[in-house]
Amino acid sequence: MASADQLPKTYEYAAVEEKWRAAWRDEDFFFDRNSTKPQFVIDTPPPYPTGNFHIGNALNWCYIDFFARYKRMKGFNVMFPQGWDCHGLPTEVKVEEINKITKNDVSREEFRRMCRELTLKNIAQMRLTLRRMAFSTDWSNEYVTMEPEYYSRTQLSFLRMLAAGYIYQSEHPVNYCTRCETAIAFAEVTYEERGTQLNYFDFSGIEIATTRPELLVACVAVATHPADERYYSLKGKQLTVPIFGHSVPVIQDKAVDPEFGSGVVMICTFGDKQDVHWWKQHNLALRRAIDRQGKMTSLAGKYAGLNTQECRKAIITDMMAGNILRRQEQLTQRVGTCWRCKTPIEILSERQWFVKVKPDEILKAAHEIAWYPEHMLRRMENWTSQMEWDWCISRQRIFATPIPVWFCRKCGQMALPDEKDLPVDPTLVKPDHPCTTCGSTEFAGEEDVLDTWMDSSISVLNVTGWDGNGIPKIFPAQIRPQGHDIIRTWAFYTILRSVALTGKRPWDHIVINGMVLGEDGFKMSKSRGNIIMPEEILGKYGADALRQWAATGAATGSDIMFNWNDVVAASRFQTKMWNIAKFVLLHLEKGGVDENATVTALADRWLLAKLSDTTEKVTEAMENYLFDDALRAIREFAWDVLADTYIELVKGRLYAQDAPRKGAVRALATAYDALLRMLAPFTPYFAEECYSYLNKGSVHKQPWVAFTYDDTQARTEGDILVKVVAEVRKFKHDNGFALNAPLGKVTIYAPHTVNDEGDTARTLNADIHWRTDTAKLDRVIADIEFDRSIVGPTFRKQAQAFMNAIRALPPEHLEHPPATIDLDGTEVGIPANAFTLKFSYMEEGAKVDVLSVGGVIVTIGKTA
Ligand SMILES: [Zn+2]
Ligand SMILES: [Zn+2]
Repeated sequence: MASADQLPKTYEYAAVEEKWRAAWRDEDFFFDRNSTKPQFVIDTPPPYPTGNFHIGNALNWCYIDFFARYKRMKGFNVMFPQGWDCHGLPTEVKVEEINKITKNDVSREEFRRMCRELTLKNIAQMRLTLRRMAFSTDWSNEYVTMEPEYYSRTQLSFLRMLAAGYIYQSEHPVNYCTRCETAIAFAEVTYEERGTQLNYFDFSGIEIATTRPELLVACVAVATHPADERYYSLKGKQLTVPIFGHSVPVIQDKAVDPEFGSGVVMICTFGDKQDVHWWKQHNLALRRAIDRQGKMTSLAGKYAGLNTQECRKAIITDMMAGNILRRQEQLTQRVGTCWRCKTPIEILSERQWFVKVKPDEILKAAHEIAWYPEHMLRRMENWTSQMEWDWCISRQRIFATPIPVWFCRKCGQMALPDEKDLPVDPTLVKPDHPCTTCGSTEFAGEEDVLDTWMDSSISVLNVTGWDGNGIPKIFPAQIRPQGHDIIRTWAFYTILRSVALTGKRPWDHIVINGMVLGEDGFKMSKSRGNIIMPEEILGKYGADALRQWAATGAATGSDIMFNWNDVVAASRFQTKMWNIAKFVLLHLEKGGVDENATVTALADRWLLAKLSDTTEKVTEAMENYLFDDALRAIREFAWDVLADTYIELVKGRLYAQDAPRKGAVRALATAYDALLRMLAPFTPYFAEECYSYLNKGSVHKQPWVAFTYDDTQARTEGDILVKVVAEVRKFKHDNGFALNAPLGKVTIYAPHTVNDEGDTARTLNADIHWRTDTAKLDRVIADIEFDRSIVGPTFRKQAQAFMNAIRALPPEHLEHPPATIDLDGTEVGIPANAFTLKFSYMEEGAKVDVLSVGGVIVTIGKTA
C-alpha cells in the first residue's frame, strides 16, 4: 500500500487523468464474441462528424458510459461500439464552403473525395474528446457509415426490403427543399411561425383569399364547404382562373373552413399537405408550376424562370393592375421549413423511392421495448399513428449511399446487382448481365442516393453482425440510448427497419436523454452566444466533474440547463472525497486491515447498515438508469454519513493507542472500497486513483458492490447515537462551551444496552453513562413564563395582579390550573396558553439539564 503521506495535498485532476489515460488499455473494453457471460450490447448513436463533440453528445455519452461500466462490473459482456454517421448535406455544404465551389463545379467522384477527407479529419478530432471524457468505448467495434463495409450493408438492406415489397418507387408529392435541391422526409420538416400576407382577390366573380398567389398557375380546383349556402350556386360549375385563363372545377369538401377568408379555397398542386389530400381524394389534375430549383416552370408563361418570391410580387402587381386584388391582411402562419437551411419547403410531385410505413407492426415492436422514462413511448405512438405518407428515402445529392439500381435504357426494366458484388455505385459500373426483358446492355444507373437515415437506421443490425444470412446470434441489442429529439427519426426508422429485416424488435430497452440548454435556459446557439464546449469544462475542472454534472443535472429524459455551479459542486465533492481518502488510507496503513476483525461497536455497525442501504439504493437506481438518484445517494453517504458523522464519531478511537480500533478500521475499509466501486462508473479517473492506493488492481475490473448488512438494531440505535451526539454538541454550543470542552457526567437512557466503545465519550469529551432503565428525575418548577400577548389584552390594568395570583398558586395547581382564579374578589377565567412552566430537574440529588432526543432522555450533569 502506498503511504498516505505520499498523497498530494490537493487532488490534481489534470495529472491524474493524463496518467490513467495512458495506462488504460483499449482491449479491456472489447466485446468478446466467444464469452459465456450474459451480453449487454449498446446501440450507440453514431454522431455526425462535424469535428465538434458537443455538450449534448457529452450528456448522451456519459449516460452510456455510466451503464456500460456498471454492467461490466455486474458481470456482463458489454459492447459499447462507436459509429460515425458520415453521409449527408451538412458535410456537402461545408465542403462547398471550404473549397469555395458548388457540387456541380467538380465531378461527383471528386466531390465525394473531398467530403470523405473532411469527414476523416473530423472523426479523428472527435475521437480525442471521447478519450478525454474517459468513455469506455469498444474501439474494436467502431464503424464508419461511408466505408464500403458499412454501406454495402445499407445497400444489402435496401435490396432485401425491395424484394420484400417494403421499398417501391413512385411519382408522388414529396417535401422538397429547393435550396438543398433534394427531397426530404416529413421528419426533417420543422415548423416555424412566419408573418405573411393574405390576399383577397376576385376569382371569376368569387372572392378567394390566398397567401400564395404565385400558385395560381397550379390551381386545379376551387373548393367550398358542402353546407355553405353562400356557394350553393357554384356546385358543378367550372371557373376560369384569373391571369392564366385555364378552367377548373368547383368541388365540395367538408375540410374547407367556411370561417377562413371568404370560405372558398383554391386547390393547387401543391400548396400544402391538405392540397395533396384533396388532390388524391378528388382525383384532380396535376399542374407542375415550380421546379427543383424553386423557379417557375414554363407552365407559368411570362413568369417562367422567376423564383417563387419574385413571382408572388409580379402576380400581385398584375392583380392590382387588373383591378382584381380587393384587399390584403397580415397573417401569422405556421410554415414548414427545411431542418437544415430553414428554407420553406415546397411540395413537388416527383419520382422518388419510398419505404412503406406499416404503423401496426412498428407500434407492436415499440411496445415490446422498455422505455426509460416510460412516457417517451407516447411520443413514438403519437408520431406513428399520425403517419400519412410513406418514408421518402431518395435524395438528389452526392455524398450518400448510392441506390444500387439500374434501368434498361431500351425497355425501362429495373436491373439489380448481385448481393456478392456490393457495394456498387450504379453511376460508375454496369450490370454484369443484359436486360432480362429485352436483352439490351444499355443501362442508366440510378443517380438518386439514399437518405442518411437509411444508413443509421441499421446501426444495430451492423453492430450485431447482420449480413443477410438470418438473424445474428446477438440480436436484438440490449439498449438504445438517444435524445428525445430523434425519436420520430432514428428510433422510428430503426424499429421499422429491424421489423422489416428480422421480424424482431431492435432492442430490449431504450433510454432517452434530454437536451442541454444554455445557462440562460435557451437552446444553445451561436447567435445567442450561450454555447459551452465540453473542452472548456474539461480544461477547467476535468472529465470527472463534467461527468458528475451529467449525472446530477436532471432526471434521465429531462432537459438540462447547463450550470457552472453544478460543475463546481462536483469538483468540491472530489476535494471532499480526496480528504476522506487521505484520512482512511492513513488509518488503514496504521496496522493494516484485519479482515477477520468483528465489528461490534455501535458506530461501526451503524456505518455498515447505512452502507448496505446505500448500495441497495444505488444499485436499484443504476438498474433503472436513474443516474441522478444513484450519484446523489453516493454523495450523501460519503459526505454526510461517512465524513461528517461517522469519522467525527470514531476519530478518537482511531487515534487512541489503547482503544479497540480494529472494528473501526475494518468498517472504514469496507465503506471506502464500496464507495470507490460505486463511483467508478461516474468518476473513472478519480475512483481509479483512490483505489490504486489499496494495491488491489484496477477498480474498473472489480465486481459491482454486493454488500449487504442486515442489522436493523444498528440502524435505529445508531441513528439515536448520532442524534444524541449532535444534540449534545448543540447544547454545548448554545451554552457557550467549546466543542472539545469537558462536559462532566452525561447519562443516556437508551432502549437497549449500547456498546459504543467509548466513541460518545471521546467525541463529546464527557463522562458517558449508557443506561437502559428509566430516568428517575425530580422535576421542580423553576420559572413561569407568561405570554404577554394574551395576558395584556385580556387583563389590561389587572395584568400584574393576574400574574401575581398565578405565581401564588401551589405547584400542583400550576401544572393543572383551575378554570378560574380570584382577582380582587372576582372569579375570572384563566385563558388558554396564558403561561408555560419552565422546569428544572434533579437526578439522584444533583441538578441536571435534560435533553429529549427522539424519545431518548439525556441528562447532563452540571459542569464546572
Ligand atoms: Zn434546405
Ligand atoms: Zn430492357
